[in-house]
Amino acid sequence: YSFSLLLIITSFQTLAQKTKPTTPLQQKVDALMARMTLAEKVGQMAQITLDVIGKGKDRFSSDEPFTLDDKALEKALVQYKLGSVLNTSNNRARTPQVWFNIIDKIQKTAMSKNKNGIPVLYGIDAIHGETYTAGATMFPQQIGQAATFNRVLVRQGAEITAYETRASSIPWAFSPLLDLGADPRFPRQWESFGEDPYVVSELGIQMVKGLEGENNEISNPYKVASSIKHFLGYQVPLSGKDRTPAVISDQALIAYHLPSFKAAIKAGAKTIMINSGLINGVPVHANYKLLTKLLKGDLGFNGLVITDWGDIENLHTRDHVAKDHKEAVKIAINAGIDMSMIAYNYEPFCDNLIALVKEGKVKQERIDDAVRRILTLKFELDLFNRPTTHIRDYPEFGSKKFEQAAQNTAAESITLLKNSNNVLPLNKSSKILVTGPNANSMRTLNGAWTYSWQGEKVEEFAGQYNTILEAMQNKIGKENVSFVPGVSYKMDGKYWEEYSDQMEEAIAAAQNADVVLLCLGENSYTETPGNLSDLYLSDLQTEFAQKLAATGKTIILILNEGRPRVISKFEKKMNAIIQTYLPGNFGGNALVDILYGDVNPSGRLPYTYPQYPNALFTYYHKPSEARETTEGVYNYDADYNPQYQFGHGLSYTTFKYSDIKLSNNILKKGENLTITVNITNTGKVSGKEAVLLYISDLVANDISPDVKRLRGFEKIELKAGETKTVSFKINSDNIAYVNPANKWVTEAGEFSVQLADKKIKFNYEQ
Ligand code: BGC
Repeated sequence: YSFSLLLIITSFQTLAQKTKPTTPLQQKVDALMARMTLAEKVGQMAQITLDVIGKGKDRFSSDEPFTLDDKALEKALVQYKLGSVLNTSNNRARTPQVWFNIIDKIQKTAMSKNKNGIPVLYGIDAIHGETYTAGATMFPQQIGQAATFNRVLVRQGAEITAYETRASSIPWAFSPLLDLGADPRFPRQWESFGEDPYVVSELGIQMVKGLEGENNEISNPYKVASSIKHFLGYQVPLSGKDRTPAVISDQALIAYHLPSFKAAIKAGAKTIMINSGLINGVPVHANYKLLTKLLKGDLGFNGLVITDWGDIENLHTRDHVAKDHKEAVKIAINAGIDMSMIAYNYEPFCDNLIALVKEGKVKQERIDDAVRRILTLKFELDLFNRPTTHIRDYPEFGSKKFEQAAQNTAAESITLLKNSNNVLPLNKSSKILVTGPNANSMRTLNGAWTYSWQGEKVEEFAGQYNTILEAMQNKIGKENVSFVPGVSYKMDGKYWEEYSDQMEEAIAAAQNADVVLLCLGENSYTETPGNLSDLYLSDLQTEFAQKLAATGKTIILILNEGRPRVISKFEKKMNAIIQTYLPGNFGGNALVDILYGDVNPSGRLPYTYPQYPNALFTYYHKPSEARETTEGVYNYDADYNPQYQFGHGLSYTTFKYSDIKLSNNILKKGENLTITVNITNTGKVSGKEAVLLYISDLVANDISPDVKRLRGFEKIELKAGETKTVSFKINSDNIAYVNPANKWVTEAGEFSVQLADKKIKFNYEQ
């Protein structure tokens, strides 16, 4: 009986599907697919790196200039009919014209020499601007963009990135990164929007819309397809090191890691890249439950699912869940992967996948599903009609207007952490010693994924933009600025290593200066080369800071780092501290404007800055991690003791919060509650304020609640003396949590609202 019922339901569904009208786009895709052989379809599912079809390989630092290799091109694109190409592992920045020449030849080969004329989909890591195009506008890295707490700036940056990426003939950006930057040890924390799931979601939506357009109109020649990454649970492995195992409960995956991806999928993100690592022992690339059931099923994602670099092969060679390459292909494609970022050796993928289909181990429907997603994207991008774009149609590429936007974003990201006795802003007549390994480097201002993977090629373009030192010289005149590095990074070999570079001279020079601008931090890095075994700032830099402090001079510490390196050994001895993150090409100018009060700082930390390497917290920790040390309460050394809290950031003015009000004391299911507060600039200069709304669930029945959660933020600007009213609307979804049965629930009970130092309570009723 149940069998026949099932049959009736199934045939009814098939009928319903058949009668459902297909869109013209679906018809085009179906018509094309009907003409394709299995080998052509499999080719579409493969992505190689540009190296494979080139000579004078960048990755071997060859002096021979890069050219496409006709034989290799023919084999990859005509014989194997591969569908996609990405930037090389160690690329150099190319001008838009050079990009055009390369991509035009690729497209002509793929389209004119194949019967079906399918264009190639070119993808690139355009993550803080079009990072591989010379002359493109470089914004702060995502962590700095998060510190602005400004949706408009993040959106604008992504729009400019899309424009300049398309100006380089490239229609697909592997951005934004929507992982939770909740572990400061991780070498890619700076690629994230920080530790808070709400911030990551909100800014992720802006980036997707900035890249793809408000309604994902990616056929627009100024827009690109985005790739939200790395689904799911990347960035928090146990060791803090890249591509090492993570242990994450389903409850935590759903509550903290999933919301940003869910939000970006709802915003229409066209493609998604998968987490290279393992969760609870299972490689995510082999996880059918996550990729097919959750992502393509529950979340209804109908875009393209791409692996990360070489991750199908990794199932065999690294993770040992497949006995050979063929089994790895079977597992990953059956788990739900649509395109393999193979990088180099593509023949085994294509040959094995064709064999697996013939043997019935991968179903034809699975291949068709993957290819349908890929071709749909190619049509949506209008690549069949416009396989390349040309720089002459992009007059604003690298324009002053774009550069100003990048500088404004850098200025709003820079975060004033400490300002004892209002030592800042500085007086222009003071003599300044500029020192430290980050003082005169464009590379450290930009971080990795700039002109090359690890950022090591940045200095080739250095003369066009200002380092901190150059920006200082421009601001107050060379005669008022002295420079001695004190400590430097090695620029070859292990370039993250440091050496003492005239440290004693720097200390002597400090005696002759009024103020020392001490620029410390990290050299650029990403992924496994950035793995770290000690979160303290390096011994050498710590020693240097301590020696400079012993001179008794006023010291302004400038941090230029991808993750919060612990500075507690000398933090108290610094008179002022500024976090610049990785502010991009205009970070030097932006910083100096802040130092001299031409811009009032308004950045806020998008993460918790730790005080000790063994005391890592997120602000939304559990109450048991923050026991009161008051008398009578036992403290298991579980005191919450960060160096600076999430959201910390000072200004040159003061803001007073008053009249916090609720539209109702009770929130009911299905209704809204409005929270308003008045904010007054009580200082003497105008300033911007990031207004952060926190809500605490005071008691949750079945799971210890987080002490507080950010549920809203707005960036406002107030002139001296001005007052503005800011309001937030919340509903029951905003105060829900995930219970131990992995369900979102909102419990009746008391909640506390917090805006700066003001608090008010409301009750939730079912
Ligand atoms: C990174 C990705 C990146 C890809 C392509 C990988 O190693 O994890 O984030 O998009 O390389 O360059």
